[in-house]
Amino acid sequence: MKKVLVFIMALCAAVGMLVAGCGGGEKKAEQKLLRVGTEPTFAPFEFQKEGSSEYTGFDMELIRAIGKQMGYKVEILNMGFDALIPALNAANIDVAIAGMSITEDRKKAVTFSEPYYTSGLIVMVNKDNNEVKSIDDLKGKKIAVQIGTTGEGKARSVADAKVSAFNTNTEAAIELKNKGVDAVINDSPVVGYYLAQGGAKDAKTVGSVMEAEDYGIAVKKGNDKLAADINKALAELKKNGEYDKIYKAWFGEVKK
Ligand code: GLN
Repeated sequence: MKKVLVFIMALCAAVGMLVAGCGGGEKKAEQKLLRVGTEPTFAPFEFQKEGSSEYTGFDMELIRAIGKQMGYKVEILNMGFDALIPALNAANIDVAIAGMSITEDRKKAVTFSEPYYTSGLIVMVNKDNNEVKSIDDLKGKKIAVQIGTTGEGKARSVADAKVSAFNTNTEAAIELKNKGVDAVINDSPVVGYYLAQGGAKDAKTVGSVMEAEDYGIAVKKGNDKLAADINKALAELKKNGEYDKIYKAWFGEVKK
């Protein structure tokens, strides 16, 4: 027995540096790391539950499932929405998932996965506002948005509007509540979730959802291999029911 042990130890000494795992398991083959950037004030896609530092939401569960499918360990990094694309370009993160709409402009800067969710923009006003019935009534008014978003783009297209761009959606909603602005323009599922979580006491939506926008997972421009691997994993999750499970958990019913 002792001899066997000595032999094993000698073997370990000889090849231990080359073979991961020899030496009691401390040198386990390292799992590949997927560094994921997000901006977590976008419930129910990415947010932190009160009192928790953990990132939760549809996007977070989806990217963890995609990472697992691809054999990666997923690390979530919190940054400003407008910092995500620069972080991809600087290779500080590998992917960005942040309810990011696939737009022609962004396609020039990053490569997107296949769409994974269909969204759209909506106008939110204070409950006691009976003047603003749709985006057409926002001319010359004050609008709060999150910086770098399609909501900001939409707000800036409104004639004579005074647009305040905040770092987070939370700040934009607070500004509306404090009556610092007349409206917020943000993604419809996010506004819907905010209203359902208590926001409806003070706010409401007006008009209908404006143009459909597809969310995509962004990777550094030209990293087609990673985008293809993500698409493959996404397709597998759609096939094996995992995507539907995550979708149902956050949105109730499964859109087909
Ligand atoms: N879907 C919007 C966009 O891509 C908003 C995203 C966000 O605020 N996280 O600009």
